[in-house]
Amino acid sequence: MALFSKKDKYIRINPNGSSREKPQAKPEVPDELFAKCPACKHTIYQKDLGSNQTCPYCSYNFRISAQDRLAITIDEGTFEELFTGHETTDPLAFPKYKEKLAQVREKTGLDEAVMTGLAQIAGHKTALGIMDSNFIMASMGGVVGEKITQLFEYATEKKLPVVLFTASGGARMQEGIISLMQMAKISAAVQRHSKAGLFYLTILTDPTTGGVTASFAMEGDIILAEPQTLIGFAGRRVIESTVRETLPDDFQKAEFLLEHGFVDAIVKRADLRAKIAKLLEFHGGGQ
Ligand SMILES: [Zn+2]
Repeated sequence: MALFSKKDKYIRINPNGSSREKPQAKPEVPDELFAKCPACKHTIYQKDLGSNQTCPYCSYNFRISAQDRLAITIDEGTFEELFTGHETTDPLAFPKYKEKLAQVREKTGLDEAVMTGLAQIAGHKTALGIMDSNFIMASMGGVVGEKITQLFEYATEKKLPVVLFTASGGARMQEGIISLMQMAKISAAVQRHSKAGLFYLTILTDPTTGGVTASFAMEGDIILAEPQTLIGFAGRRVIESTVRETLPDDFQKAEFLLEHGFVDAIVKRADLRAKIAKLLEFHGGGQ
């Protein structure tokens, strides 16, 4: 018996007799213990990624949840979540959309693909939005649009800057035209905030594409990006087949956009918090 006692999880002894049951589970390494870097292919012990979730070999930035992004960005304990409780509608009665939403809410702990609220960054009070690509690729539906619009309206009223981490696979196709309408709605709220003389900082994270790029992601007074971030509107194949030309390999990467003036600076994840704090200090970061 002693021989088996340590393997209790894998080999069960039939309590009624001596015959052994089939093993219930095979020994396996939990998924969450190791990560494989998609860039350099190294297998990395999760703990070695650190709180920034960056590859120690090649500095690749793993996609990060909104909660983890919050933790490495703001002053601890200063976040007040706002604009929750919206009900995501299913205007097209899209097959399995409601089930998908329920699953992804459970998995991510988020109500929708963007987390919004108030926070302090190095003592600067700011309205903050963080999109999370784990939530249906941070696609922009009605609730994402509404939360970001409310964030800007609140910031305008309270005379606060807005810091927004973008990530998105594009429009939420399950919501059809409702999804596309968000682009204009948010852009109008961004403009009112801007006309009030307030500061808006966007940080483009991998991937920022589709309707989010075509609206508020590129409307920041200052636009930062993490290294190697995919940034674009339409996908490569769509553009290549439209213009009938082959595009450069790094087309739609943050570095290419920086060269062409669409991004103001590329900042390593480890340096982002300090950079944001500095920009808030220069451009009116509240109290
Ligand atoms: Zn790597």
